[in-house]
Amino acid sequence: MTPTATATPDRLAETVSACRELIETRFAGDVERGAAAMLLDDGTILTGTAPDVANPSVEICHETEPFAAAFRLGRAIVASVCLAREAPGRFVVLSPCGVCRERLAGHGPDVRVAVPGDTGTRGDPAWITLGEALPHYWAAVFDDIPWR
Ligand SMILES: [Zn+2]
Repeated sequence: MTPTATATPDRLAETVSACRELIETRFAGDVERGAAAMLLDDGTILTGTAPDVANPSVEICHETEPFAAAFRLGRAIVASVCLAREAPGRFVVLSPCGVCRERLAGHGPDVRVAVPGDTGTRGDPAWITLGEALPHYWAAVFDDIPWR
């Protein structure tokens, strides 16, 4: 199954909804929270969030949980979104940080990543490919890296 076959507009929208829903249900009384969601090649949507820790130097990205779960399940990631709630009902899209881009790179340049869109406050993203987010990916020179 190719990433483009799975990453339909409807499935991408459902992935964003799952991310938003996790924030709204898990953190109902705690406004400034975030979460991530990833769409897998079999259509599964995984969500995750970063646990609270006492020492900020050991915090992890919200994407870490669904990223690790995809590996546990042996599935390819085809899309990833991370949202933060800034105020009640107001979400912003966090494009994947450098570490998360590096992690996602193992799934190839066609992975869709959510970046801030220009409409609304529901965290509706624009979608670009990881190849667009990493136009000069360092490991692309190696033949065994799935990059074009
Ligand atoms: Zn990250």
